Amino acid sequence: MDNNSPKIAVIGAGVVGMTVAKIVQQELRNTNITIIADAFTEDTVSCVAAGIFRPGTSFKGPTKEITKKWINDSWYFWQDILKTSEAPLAGLMPVSSYIFSKENYFVTRNHLIEDLVPIYRSVEKDELKLCGEGWKYGSYFSTIKIGCDRYLPWVEKSFIEKGGKIDVKKIDSFASLLSKFDLVFNCTGLGAKMLCGDHDLVALRGQVIKVKAPWLKMAFYGDYDTYMIPGLDGVATLGGVRQYDSYNKDVCKYDSAAIMERCCQLLPALKQAEVVAHRVGLRPHRVPVRVEPEVVDGVKVVHCYGHGGYGVMCAPGTAMDAVRMGVDFLKSNVRSKM
Ligand SMILES: Cc1cc2nc3c(=O)[nH]c(=O)nc-3n(C[C@H](O)[C@H](O)[C@H](O)COP(=O)(O)OP(=O)(O)OC[C@H]3O[C@@H](n4cnc5c(N)ncnc54)[C@H](O)[C@@H]3O)c2cc1C
Repeated sequence: MDNNSPKIAVIGAGVVGMTVAKIVQQELRNTNITIIADAFTEDTVSCVAAGIFRPGTSFKGPTKEITKKWINDSWYFWQDILKTSEAPLAGLMPVSSYIFSKENYFVTRNHLIEDLVPIYRSVEKDELKLCGEGWKYGSYFSTIKIGCDRYLPWVEKSFIEKGGKIDVKKIDSFASLLSKFDLVFNCTGLGAKMLCGDHDLVALRGQVIKVKAPWLKMAFYGDYDTYMIPGLDGVATLGGVRQYDSYNKDVCKYDSAAIMERCCQLLPALKQAEVVAHRVGLRPHRVPVRVEPEVVDGVKVVHCYGHGGYGVMCAPGTAMDAVRMGVDFLKSNVRSKM
């Protein structure tokens, strides 16, 4: 690396920023890369998430084909890590899941991953009785979970070892980065609402309860956004809520009570589980997720934000596209035309 190497900034240290930084380092070896962010690991939305690989229909790219490509590319990115001995350090684990409904067969299906994951099937009659009475429909599938409490520090460590720099600060405008960086990746999640004045980006408030449940080895989903997802450290995530356009970061005791009640109805053994924490996160919801280059105030910016409730699972696919755009952007002389 020398002083003539391109200078690249990644704004954001959540799962999207960290994954972009990791891929930039792999693709562009001779570069100076700095991650700039005002919140890291535990303080990011990424760390609130259980991080299961299960996309919902609100996850959308600009076309159906791009959405599917992002999902597939992400799956194989995670599989490559899962094959290595690093997987537990990176927070990755395989998870088997049941999803049940009393109301609708289609909510138990998932056309976005049925051809991707090793198993996705309808349940047998006996399996419908696994979580109490009354379940009419169900599916079983195998997937993975990415715990950002481990993944983010794992990426950060290797990023620094390879010469990457970290700068802890808030960026108020792209103009403040002019002449300091040749290329900027904007991975600010909900922060892009202010930074870009993006009115299409909306908070989708979520709340979860983290409980000690080392005995929970599978994920279970029920109606009304009810889920329990095991973790590598024996701490399970219970959820959840999706509150559109709500910016309240405080824990709501009524949400907690409703989550606990719904989860215990599904799996009564959870009544005995010790509560470790209540967490709130504002999902950066945008349709479509924004992955595109733009010159802002003379700065070459590639945006990569707005992943809603699916940013952990889909960060890699979108990051790969963002980095491809960034490489082309670096080569182009578009700034001189502005
Ligand atoms: C309850 C809940 C459950 C979820 N479950 C799942 C799940 O199971 N699977 C899944 O895939 N996804 C899940 N998600 C969604 C997932 O958490 C998000 O999509 C993802 O974390 C978004 O990542 P991000 O890196 O874009 O944002 P963040 O994690 O919010 O990171 C944004 C980064 O940008 C920085 N930043 C912002 N503005 C600025 C600025 N102006 N200057 C400097 N730095 C700035 C912040 O400091 C931070 O470092 C869940 C979310 C919630 C809330």
